[in-house]
Amino acid sequence: MKIHTSAVHAGDRKQPGRHIPVTTPIHTAASYFYAESVMLDKVFGHEEAGYAYGRYDNPTNAALEELVATLEGASPANGGGALATASGMLALQAALLTCLAERRRKVLCAEALYGATVKLLMNVLEPYGIETRFVDFCDEAAFAKAIESFQPGCVLMETVSNPLLRVADLSRIAAMAREANAPLIVDNTFATPLLVRPLEHGADYVVHSLTKYLSGHGDVLGGAIVTTGDKLTEIRAMSRVVGPILGPFECYLAMRGIKTFPLRMERQCRNAAAIAAFLRTHPSVERVYYLDDPRHPDRHNIEKLFSDGLYGAMVSFEVRGLDQPGVFAFMDRLKMVVPATSLGDVHTMMLHPWTASHRDVSPRHKERTGIRENLVRLSVGIEDPGDIVADLEQALGS
Ligand SMILES: *Cc1c(COP(=O)(O)O)cnc(C)c1O
Repeated sequence: MKIHTSAVHAGDRKQPGRHIPVTTPIHTAASYFYAESVMLDKVFGHEEAGYAYGRYDNPTNAALEELVATLEGASPANGGGALATASGMLALQAALLTCLAERRRKVLCAEALYGATVKLLMNVLEPYGIETRFVDFCDEAAFAKAIESFQPGCVLMETVSNPLLRVADLSRIAAMAREANAPLIVDNTFATPLLVRPLEHGADYVVHSLTKYLSGHGDVLGGAIVTTGDKLTEIRAMSRVVGPILGPFECYLAMRGIKTFPLRMERQCRNAAAIAAFLRTHPSVERVYYLDDPRHPDRHNIEKLFSDGLYGAMVSFEVRGLDQPGVFAFMDRLKMVVPATSLGDVHTMMLHPWTASHRDVSPRHKERTGIRENLVRLSVGIEDPGDIVADLEQALGS
């Protein structure tokens, strides 16, 4: 099945019996029993598949998990699966802790990572003895050297970096990580499985913030880890004890959102390309970052990974001569584009990385990674592209 079909069908309509609901209901029961007690005993003992307790799993979560795994090319039929978690951050933490369990407590990370992911590593995991090293994953020689000298227990990267949209050579990174016996975790929130499916390129774990494109409506917080085989068994065993799972109401909302995800994402990518083209011609715009740029420093990797002419829906740009108050005034002039945090929603949103996502990053690190005071990040929505352009145009002035 193609992704537009599986987004609508995977996971649903599983209920046996005379009535089959067309969508999966919200199962709120905290525990389950069976007509014969021996059956519950077998479920507890993993001899039979079934539900026993709400912290382990429930039919609503299972439906969403099958759906997300299928989108990432890891359907249960191929030995794959997913765990839906209460947030994207929790999904990252669960993936990291599971793969470091019997390995060197060292994480080799891409230099440009989501802000909270850096804090998770530095402020939460480091105090527990988990060491972190950051390196530019777009520099293959630097990555190879770091693997060699640091000997990581696992490798962590994002398919597309935030907010400057750098793209590393995913399959090369995966091959080198595999050779070093370090599992590769890929945060695929920005690219989404419509554009890139990291497991197909050799990643071991894919992590998502469901909060973003997959749910897509800015009304649910959630995360997911997708993996295969023993790794899935380990994640689930950990989850049964720690209890990070997403609530059934949120699972329902996420699943409802995902049915239209490929449609929305396609539209968002096309809108983003149109907006990037407009921004490139505007005299007040100094520089535009978008993955369709023929002079993009990672052009070769982008061509390898992205197909169908879809390059994602994030566009970043620098506004000529603006300092922080100038950027704030520009954002305050927006009439339709929403100047809020987050991304991937149906509405277009703008964020100022300098004071928002990268607020706690040192000025030196910002300088080194190219985050400038006049940079804004646009998460392009599904509106009519002409209306988005018109709003940006009036806010930019001439
Ligand atoms: C939002 C986001 C996260 C964290 O997800 P939450 O659902 O907010 O916990 C992780 N990685 C990326 C790339 C994100 O955009």
